[in-house]
Order: sequence, then C-alpha cells, then structure tokens
Amino acid sequence: MSKYGIVSIIFISLIIGLFVIGIFVSLPLFIFFFLFLLYISILSIGSFSIRYNFFINAYNRGNRQDKKIAITFDDGPENKITPELLNILATHNVKTTFFCIGEKAEKNKELLRQMDAAGHIIGNHSFTHSTLFDFKLSGRMIDEIERTNNAIEKIINKKPLLFRPPYGITNPFLKKAIKKTNMTPVGWSLRSFDTIRDDKQVMKRIRKNIKEGDIILLHDKNKQIHTIVSELLCFLETCGFEIVNLDKLLAVDAYEKF
Ligand SMILES: [Zn+2]
Repeated sequence: MSKYGIVSIIFISLIIGLFVIGIFVSLPLFIFFFLFLLYISILSIGSFSIRYNFFINAYNRGNRQDKKIAITFDDGPENKITPELLNILATHNVKTTFFCIGEKAEKNKELLRQMDAAGHIIGNHSFTHSTLFDFKLSGRMIDEIERTNNAIEKIINKKPLLFRPPYGITNPFLKKAIKKTNMTPVGWSLRSFDTIRDDKQVMKRIRKNIKEGDIILLHDKNKQIHTIVSELLCFLETCGFEIVNLDKLLAVDAYEKF
C-alpha cells in the first residue's frame, strides 16, 4: 500500500474514533478541523516530490552497493542544444536517458532519431509540460501521456515505458493515470538544480552529494548543460563511477515489447 493509503486509513480511523468518543463526551469542533488541516498538509508535502514515494512508488535510484550511476535529461529535445550534447556524450561513449516533452519531440523528429540511434533511451515527460499539469484530472493526464507515447513511437518505432512527471509532482490523479497507461514512474536521487544555478554551483553540489546508484537529474534546455556535462563526465570517470543507462541501473524495460 502507498504511504497515501496508510495516512488516509490512519486519519479515517481517527475521525471515526473521535465520532464514537463524541457520543459519550462533548468534543470541540476544532479537533476535527485540526485533523483535516493536518491531513491536507501531509498530502501537500507528499505531493511535492516524486522522491517521497507518497502517492506512487517510483524508481528514484539504483543499488547503493554498485558503483554505477545513470544520467537523465529532462525538458528537451532542443535543436540548438541537444545536438552538441549528443556529441559530448558520444565522445565519452556514454548512454543516457532523455525524458522528452511530446510537442518538442514532434518538432525535432530527426534529433529524436539520432538520440535513439546513439543508444540513448527516450522517456515520456508529458506532451505539453504545462504548469497546470498537476491540476489536471486523470483523463487529461492519460491523454498527455498517450499523445507523447504515440508521437515518440511514430518517430523511433518504439513505445516508451518510462515516465517522469513534470516538476516531479505526484497526486492521486497521476497515480491513476500511470496505472491506466501502464507506465513505469521514474524520479531521481540527485537533483542538480542546473536550471537555476551556474555550472560551478551545479558541479559543487554533484561532487558533494553523489553516491552509488544515483540517478542524476539534468536538463537539455539550457546552454550551460554542455559545460556541466563535460565536467561531470570527467569527474565521474576520475572517481571510477560506471555510467549505465536507466534500464540497466533499475533492471526495467525502457520500451514496450512487441
Ligand atoms: Zn520537466
């Protein structure tokens, strides 16, 4: 059972218990109000990051015993940024995962084919990456996931199974959407903050926090990604980390089998 299910059962039991007590003793209404507020607060915190595994059980890291890590890029592909990134990855012979936005994939078909041909995995990161994605009902989320899968499948002839929700936010609607679409939810264990910090700060953070089994979150939508990835690959090689792709790190299928 998910943490959400456990928390809900505890709160429902508490409410029922208080109602029963209320038959015999007069209870102030604010107790119920406080419990309701506490419940909503816990749910809000639980929805904040996929890493909490609150609503869904996502893959957020690999085995901590193996000196292996995986690198992931979100929010692309970008025709002015991703090609140079692919060159850097090819120079180091590294395979990574790109969680692509469906509408960007449709605009960059050749780029997507290059990514696939180079051995990188293409994952699903919703069709629009709308800031309102997390306020949508399950049906609209399913539509976004399926539209992206269809777009990617038409281009590379493979149907993705890996899904990373926009902003890493989860909720009961997303849980239902992931179940209905049979996707494998993937989070991360090391967030680089590469979209809001400069390359030196990003590398400092990675150097300080990296551990065996990590899934590193980066984005191929900002130009400094080239500097970051060049430094990161040299650092990982020096430290003796083996960079493997997500399907190997997590022992999952990246695409639907025919
Ligand atoms: Zn994103």
